[in-house]
Amino acid sequence: MKIKILETPNFHIDGGAYFGVVPKIIWEKKYPADENNMCKAACRSLLIVEENRVVLIDTGIGDKPAEENEDLYFTDYSENLITNLANAGFSPTDITDVVLTHLHFDHCGGCFYINKNTDSYKLYFKNAKHYVTRKQWENAMFPNYREKSSYHREKLMSLQDEGSLLFIDENFRLTKNIELRIFNGHTPGLMLPVIYSERNTFFFTGDLIPAMASIPLAWISAYDLYPLTSIEEKKNILNEADENNWIFIYQHDFYNVASYLIKTDRGIRAGNKIEKSEIETL
Ligand SMILES: [Zn+2]
Repeated sequence: MKIKILETPNFHIDGGAYFGVVPKIIWEKKYPADENNMCKAACRSLLIVEENRVVLIDTGIGDKPAEENEDLYFTDYSENLITNLANAGFSPTDITDVVLTHLHFDHCGGCFYINKNTDSYKLYFKNAKHYVTRKQWENAMFPNYREKSSYHREKLMSLQDEGSLLFIDENFRLTKNIELRIFNGHTPGLMLPVIYSERNTFFFTGDLIPAMASIPLAWISAYDLYPLTSIEEKKNILNEADENNWIFIYQHDFYNVASYLIKTDRGIRAGNKIEKSEIETL
């Protein structure tokens, strides 16, 4: 089995939204912001190759739109999923499984391209099954007022129309080495992978722990719908990770890709950092 981290377009998140109720004088020591209080955020995908499966976890924001819309996230499109996939030796049709941790635009946008003739969205990963939790799909189809702008309905409908969608209802073993766990604090039915390699266990922290700085329990993003649920879920996963020496891979942390964990007097914290290129060798 091989794990590779693929970068997709980066964007910016308001620091207050990123770190919730944590005051800026505290979070800015852990994560830099620009003069507009915007923090650079990565949007990482994971490519996992296991026997005859080529699995992609999340697909990022997607291609640059043809029309210049007002972009509140100041997206930088210099990283591209399809290009980075090609650099790793794969074409979109090689992908057998696409796991969407959830359907917020910055996690699933890279599934779609515009067919210019019909002006409709098509799927890049034509041969893949696309997995999402049923809870998250229903939440996206009938969105609450707060999350509404995070879902791009027209794109999501092409997932349904092309018939490659599979709904997950509970924790699920996707392959021998990939387990999908369900969480509900950030959004109902967030699904995050635990990946078991021969020597290590990796957890892709997704929007449950978007950055390395988000490890302390109270550091909950203001985007989370149910912060107390997030705290509970984070506590449980941190304990399990610490007991079993898991490695965390951070999806949105622009500055830190992955780390070990350590126990401190104040709780579980990030331990030694791991570089992107090292992940493949662990
Ligand atoms: Zn999200």
